Amino acid sequence: MNAIERSSQITERLVAIYPDRRPLLVFESPYQLVIAVILSAQTTDAQVNVVTPGLFARFPTPGALAGAPQREIEKIVHSTGFYRTKARNIIAAAKAIHERFGDGVPELMEDLTSIPGVGRKSANVVRGVVYGLPSIVVDTHLSRVTNRLGLVSESNPAKIEQLLRKVVPEDVQTDFSMGINLHGRYCCSARKPDCQGCVLRDLCPFDPT
Ligand code: SF4
Repeated sequence: MNAIERSSQITERLVAIYPDRRPLLVFESPYQLVIAVILSAQTTDAQVNVVTPGLFARFPTPGALAGAPQREIEKIVHSTGFYRTKARNIIAAAKAIHERFGDGVPELMEDLTSIPGVGRKSANVVRGVVYGLPSIVVDTHLSRVTNRLGLVSESNPAKIEQLLRKVVPEDVQTDFSMGINLHGRYCCSARKPDCQGCVLRDLCPFDPT
């Protein structure tokens, strides 16, 4: 079985066991998704979901958030960690969305990554979720699981994305990415992967012993 066939098999099985692959972040618009994704750096989606309802109730539009006082935003996002940088980034991101993109969230990778706080990972989340474009979101889970599966042997996120785009068929890239992410959370954990109970066991060369 070549790498393309393996990645297709992997995707099929993950889609079957994780039928709901929507992001765990709660959002009601593309703008809210961008802000939530920026806040999700170095913390859990659950923690972001604690602060975003209050944030978006107080600043419901990009224009409103763009003009928000930094100190007030720092207080609201404090529990997500790195609160000064995140407050600065989400204000600047809202400003960019408001002023450069007319309150809309752009689709092109280069436009998305020009928004403060939005890197390739975040841009891929937005492109996949909002626009249904093929996306490979290289986070800590995807990096770990795809290395264990032997689909890549690489730690650089940009290179992992590049390599996976070659072996995962385009029409299933988003399903693959979201499925692998969930598998990393619920089965193939960093410390104690549940290889005995894993549906990918026969496709995985990783030795847990
Ligand atoms: S077999 Fe083990 S290492 Fe491989 S994907 Fe499954 S849980 Fe992860």
